[in-house]
Amino acid sequence: MTKDQALSLLAGKIEAGRALDMASALMYWDAVTLGVPEQSLSARGAAAGWLEGESFRRFIAPDTLEAVETLEALSDGLSERERAMVREMGRAYRKAKAVPPEEMQQFGALVAQAEPVWEKARETDDFALIQPYYEKIFDFKRRLCYWYGYQKHPYDALLDDYEKGADVEMLDGFFALLRERISPLVKMIGASGQKPREIAGTFPLDKQRELTPWLCAFVGYDTARGKVGEVQHPFCLTASRHDVRITTKYHAGDLLSSLYSVIHECGHALYEQNMDEELEGYGLAECASMGVHESQSRLYENMIGRSRPFAGILLPKLRELFGGFADWDEDALYRAVNIARPSLIRIEADELTYCLHIIVRYELEKDILTGAAQVKDLPGLWADKYEELLGLRPPSAAKGVLQDVHWSGGMVGYFPSYAVGNAYGAQLMHAMRKTVDVDGAAGRGDLSPVNAWLRENVHRHGAMNEPEELLRRATGEAFNPSYYADYLSEKFTALYR
Ligand SMILES: [Zn+2]
Repeated sequence: MTKDQALSLLAGKIEAGRALDMASALMYWDAVTLGVPEQSLSARGAAAGWLEGESFRRFIAPDTLEAVETLEALSDGLSERERAMVREMGRAYRKAKAVPPEEMQQFGALVAQAEPVWEKARETDDFALIQPYYEKIFDFKRRLCYWYGYQKHPYDALLDDYEKGADVEMLDGFFALLRERISPLVKMIGASGQKPREIAGTFPLDKQRELTPWLCAFVGYDTARGKVGEVQHPFCLTASRHDVRITTKYHAGDLLSSLYSVIHECGHALYEQNMDEELEGYGLAECASMGVHESQSRLYENMIGRSRPFAGILLPKLRELFGGFADWDEDALYRAVNIARPSLIRIEADELTYCLHIIVRYELEKDILTGAAQVKDLPGLWADKYEELLGLRPPSAAKGVLQDVHWSGGMVGYFPSYAVGNAYGAQLMHAMRKTVDVDGAAGRGDLSPVNAWLRENVHRHGAMNEPEELLRRATGEAFNPSYYADYLSEKFTALYR
């Protein structure tokens, strides 16, 4: 195969894969925002399964490897984009090939069965229902570590699926630092006796729906190249560079839930919308990692959306839309959106205690994987760790070990990306502040200098560089979680002084 043949073969596969993925994404959107007529469930399921299978079959065909190897052999004669494409395709191909196809199929079927069982287990607070599924899923993950191979710790092999470059050594250090720096803050807040005023009342859904476009415009999410839908659990979905959609869920009794989920998903969407369009043809219009994706959503949600300057422009908007808020001032609003209080549920956690929830999951996943802990003991182990880290003991498995969908969805090794994303975000923000007046931009309600910096240093590069290299180029140094610890420490010490 010549270089030109190899390049054009891969380009064809990438284009087909993109079209198939777009079809799958739009089918999914249709199902979760509009719902599926009951009678169409099986036909849809079959079509969705075929689309996904076809995408995989095209990718895994032997000529993909032939093309990759042809190009790897002449690496010096390739452009930077071509080299990155070959790196990413080679990695994905070899990982996919490492797993025996019949094992992969069985795992797919197992996960499809496990998800509804998990829902039932959570509803009925019965861990025993899901236990055998978790056991099989973790068994498969152990074999996966072996097939993928690893240098030091089996968990490293799983991390690579979500967070390239991260390993147990890095995460152990990162989480030890967070334990050391966050725990005293949580204690200090408890001891302060401060009870900031909370936003309470009923907030009509039609008014909340009016707030959403204002938030999208504030972040800079381009709704001419996207859409906002309503679903049970908010997410961001990419059909193409020109069609990046977000979702939210409105609660009449909880104004902040939708408000911050919109800002969060807009952060994800901005990353997707701002990737260089030319990267699509190389299969590189993808996130650098889940952690990098999460760094963008959380940077907008927490570091800007929960900043003091933003409270200054949010308050008049809330008054205009909802009336009331006459007896609030900007400081009180700033405090109200930053209440830190240990809780049992990860997705409801505040900015300060969020990563403690991740530490629980990380330590348990690692122990189950190595056999240091058993699946059957998870509810108790979970409760012990919550008590140790957050000072709370879940009253039930439903409010404890059964709260997350990840394990039943076959995702082991995913949780650390959430925490790592927070820390990437803080490091990027620290670098950005050297040249950008972030607070001034947030206070004016014009984030264009912030967006321009992120676009130039993060968004536009897609998957060109792995996270470590991306951070090095954007901030001038390797991953350094002390920026995140410092940020939390400064913010929450001032809030609860
Ligand atoms: Zn997110």
